[in-house]
Amino acid sequence: MKQTDSMIRERILDLKKERSVYIIAHYYQRPEIQDIADFVGDSYAMAVAAKNAPLDTILVAGVDFMAESAAILCPDKKVLSPEPKATCPMANSITIADVQNYKRSHPEAIIVSYVNTPAEIKAVTDICVTSSNAAKIIAKLPQDAPIFFIPDENLGQYITSQLNRPMDMFPSRCPIHAAVTAADILQRKQEYPEADILIHPECAPEVIALADFVGSTAGIVDYAAKSDKNQFIIGTECGIMHRINQVSPGKELILAKEELICPNMKSITLDKILYSLEAMETVISVPEAIRSRAAVALGKMIAYAS
Ligand code: SF4
Repeated sequence: MKQTDSMIRERILDLKKERSVYIIAHYYQRPEIQDIADFVGDSYAMAVAAKNAPLDTILVAGVDFMAESAAILCPDKKVLSPEPKATCPMANSITIADVQNYKRSHPEAIIVSYVNTPAEIKAVTDICVTSSNAAKIIAKLPQDAPIFFIPDENLGQYITSQLNRPMDMFPSRCPIHAAVTAADILQRKQEYPEADILIHPECAPEVIALADFVGSTAGIVDYAAKSDKNQFIIGTECGIMHRINQVSPGKELILAKEELICPNMKSITLDKILYSLEAMETVISVPEAIRSRAAVALGKMIAYAS
């Protein structure tokens, strides 16, 4: 007999209790996955939640660098990924050689990596950032040191404009956010003139220029909850709408563009989570020589952001 979604969901809830597994999910996960998670957040909050996880096994419902971050921060815990092939094209765009080449010509530079990077890039990074803490952290770095900001380039440009601090950037962007155009936003604004425009900083500068609010996923959820407005044009991946609906029921959400769907995030399904819990697979591990260096960059992020 084919299992229904509600049977799968019940089995997942039973198994995670039986096997003492703590499930951490990103806001871009499917709604039914957010609903079975113990913790849902942005990539910064996920890293902190993994570090403070109350159980010895963590299942990360997110793309590969998120599970890796948990494995880097929690060497004594078992970290499971329900779909290790779920990856981030932007995170994979930079190589160690790109960082080393930059370092060779700018030996005094600070390497600042977006958390959307593989473990081996974090290992050659001085400090990691996420969209929720990049401005706060970069403002604390020595003013006279050059910075090499590793993707996202749009986020880097936004931080530069916020802090009035030039940075060298690796040219790579999130394909999902970069696909939103100013024309998309203007079209939506024409259809919904009363709506506030909430934009993720991975969007292009000309899109950000039209925003009423620019912030990380957590910032967008928070803004919608606190705002007196009832309509919002959402300029980030569609998964966030589930969280906003939970926190701010009754508010109308309009996606800035229908294609704001990350196929990698959505490649994780309830079926895959169930299999992962049944088989206790796939265990994510990072070689110790890389893990220990990457942990310094992630640890500094947590320390500077708090
Ligand atoms: S939404 Fe963009 S940055 Fe996030 S995982 Fe997907 S491709 Fe990567």
